[in-house]
Amino acid sequence: MEEFGGIDLGGTKIEAVIVGARSEVLASARRPTPVNGGPPAVAAEMARALREACAAAGVAPSSLTAAGVGSPGLVDGDSGAVTSARNLPSWEGTFDLGGTLSEALQTRVLVGNDVQVATRAEFELGAGKPYESLLGVFWGTGVGGGVILRGEDWLGRGGAGEIGHMVVKIGGERCACGRSGCLEAYAGRGAMEARARRQREKGKKTELFKIMQERGRPRLTSSVWERALEKGDRLAIELVDQAVAALGAGVGSAVNLLDIEAVVIGGGLGIRFGEPMAERIALAMHPHLFNDGQPPAVRVAALGDLGGAIGASLLARRAVGA
Ligand SMILES: [Zn+2]
Repeated sequence: MEEFGGIDLGGTKIEAVIVGARSEVLASARRPTPVNGGPPAVAAEMARALREACAAAGVAPSSLTAAGVGSPGLVDGDSGAVTSARNLPSWEGTFDLGGTLSEALQTRVLVGNDVQVATRAEFELGAGKPYESLLGVFWGTGVGGGVILRGEDWLGRGGAGEIGHMVVKIGGERCACGRSGCLEAYAGRGAMEARARRQREKGKKTELFKIMQERGRPRLTSSVWERALEKGDRLAIELVDQAVAALGAGVGSAVNLLDIEAVVIGGGLGIRFGEPMAERIALAMHPHLFNDGQPPAVRVAALGDLGGAIGASLLARRAVGA
């Protein structure tokens, strides 16, 4: 019996899965991403999450055929090194994530880009299954993207897929990346929250922060946005409308360049808002499509929160030719 491990390293949480021969999930575990201690502390917590998942599945980490990791930042797939993972606290230089985990878990560990492995998972097992070429758009704190062309991951020189930094407005809003007018500066949950706070300071009425407090959340999470929309909160509606318009322009421009068959929308907000919002994004995209007689299919990611970890396990499976 062959089992593979997969770990998705996120800015707030680490998700680990153990999958069987047909990529079925046998067990999973989740731990918060440590905010102190830098890369070594993060790696130790990742190993802990995978050990927990192993224990729940009744397998020893060392008996896994291999394990994969989806990590933010610049990933060197050959060496397993990760450089400047911006979303993670104090991860400025280069860290040998693959080597460190391999030693801790006593199994082979492959490292890939988090968004690319999640896109791959949707391509092989999820909403992207019927298609040969697709664009994955992960709408969460930021906006990440992954590209698959004729079945092959398109990584460029290692930095491809950054759809969040497509320019949707020249000279527009400041982005977390330091540039301006990026899609993420309008549609990223982090940017949407910053805009909501500024509007509130200017005296605009909104229920967003009240809902956040009622739910004991430190941030405007996807569920807070969803609730505010349900309650008809004017500011929430306005900011989500702007996000959808920006997604329409950014994703539409990517489609004009690549003419892929399908767009798969995932990420915290993408999954939370689901099918109705995917339809709205498709409508917002339409006026920007050059080839508007043949729009791509727009689908919601089917693997949910575990998609990243499952995608990481596929990386391990591919590396050993299974
Ligand atoms: Zn940017």
